[in-house]
Amino acid sequence: MSRIAGKFFLVVLVAGLVLSGCSKGGQSASEQGGKSSGPDRSFATIGTGGLTGVYYVAGGAVSKIVNAKYDQYKLKVTVESTGGSVFNINAVLSGDLEFGVAQSDRQSQAWKGEAEWQDKGPQKDLRVVCALHAESVTLVAADDASINSIGDLKGKRVNIGDPGSGNRGNAIDALENAGLNWETDIKAEQLKAVESAKLLQDGRIDAYFYTVGHPNGSMMEATAGTRKVHFVPIDNVDNLIKKFPYYAKSFIPKKLYPNATNTSDTPTYGVKATLITSAKVPDDVVYAVTKEIFENLDTLRGLHPAFETLTKENMLEGNTAPYHDGAMKYFKEAGLM
Ligand code: GLU
Repeated sequence: MSRIAGKFFLVVLVAGLVLSGCSKGGQSASEQGGKSSGPDRSFATIGTGGLTGVYYVAGGAVSKIVNAKYDQYKLKVTVESTGGSVFNINAVLSGDLEFGVAQSDRQSQAWKGEAEWQDKGPQKDLRVVCALHAESVTLVAADDASINSIGDLKGKRVNIGDPGSGNRGNAIDALENAGLNWETDIKAEQLKAVESAKLLQDGRIDAYFYTVGHPNGSMMEATAGTRKVHFVPIDNVDNLIKKFPYYAKSFIPKKLYPNATNTSDTPTYGVKATLITSAKVPDDVVYAVTKEIFENLDTLRGLHPAFETLTKENMLEGNTAPYHDGAMKYFKEAGLM
C-alpha cells in the first residue's frame, strides 16, 4: 500500500468508526478507565506498524474479519499505526493496547527478559494468539552508493529503524555479524521505517534495514523512484542462526519488485510476525479474535500476498510465550491442540 493509500485507509477506518457510533464514544478500553470498572469487552485495539509495512495490513485484516461478526460478539476491533514490535509489546503489557503484532524474536526476548527487556526482566503477562506471515531482514541500498555486501555499509548513512521497531535489533545483529559496530562504523539513523523510502530517494540515506513481509509498500515506493535501488544479500548467517535460534534463512523474491535492479532473488534471514496480547485481556475477547482468524483463513489469505502461505499448522509455530487462555480454549475446541 502506498503511503497515501495507507493514510486514506486510516482516515476511512477512523471515520467509519465514528460514524458507526462505536460504544463508549470511540475510546479504547484503557481510555475508558477499564481498570477500575473491570476490563472492557466491547472494544479492542491492535498495535501494528508503519503505514507502508505489512503489520498495518495484518491488523486491518484481523479487524475486518472480527468486526464482520459484530452482531455475535459485540466487539469492535480497530488498528493503530505504531513504531512496531517493541512499542506494541510494551503497549500491550501496560494495558494501552489489547493486541499487537510483534516479531517472533521480540516476543521471545520480552518473555525471557532479554534485549530491550533485560532491565525489566521476563514479561510474565505476555501471551500469544498465533503466528502470522514470514518477515525477512531486508537491506535496501541505492545503486549509486556502491553497497553490494553488508560490509560495504562502512561509513554509509543507514536507517536502522526507530527504538520502538523490531527491525532495529535485527539490523544491529546483522551489522555485528559482519564485523561492523552500528555506533562507530556506520552513520546510523534511527527513524521510523515509513520514512525510509523517501529518505533513500531524496539522497539523505544510502541504505535502510526493514524486517518486513513481502511485497510491502515501503519497498514498492523505494524501487519506484528515479534513484535506482537494489536489495543487498545478507549471507554468512550460519553463526547468527546458531546463536539466535529464532532466526531462519529466507530470501526476497526478485519477481515481487520488478523495478529493483537485482537480477535474482536476494538471500537473507528472517523471523515471523506474531499476534500477541496480555494475560489481562479477557478470555472471551481473545477467544473471539482467535476463532474468527482461524475460521476465516481463506479471507485472510486473500488480503495480502504475504498471507497466502498461512495454514492453521504454521500459525501455531514460532511462538515462545504461552498461548492466551482464550486462544487455547479455541485451539482445544477445534482439535488443534
Ligand atoms: N517488523 C517490523 C517491526 O516490528 C514491522 C514490519 C511491518 O510493519 O510490517 O518493527
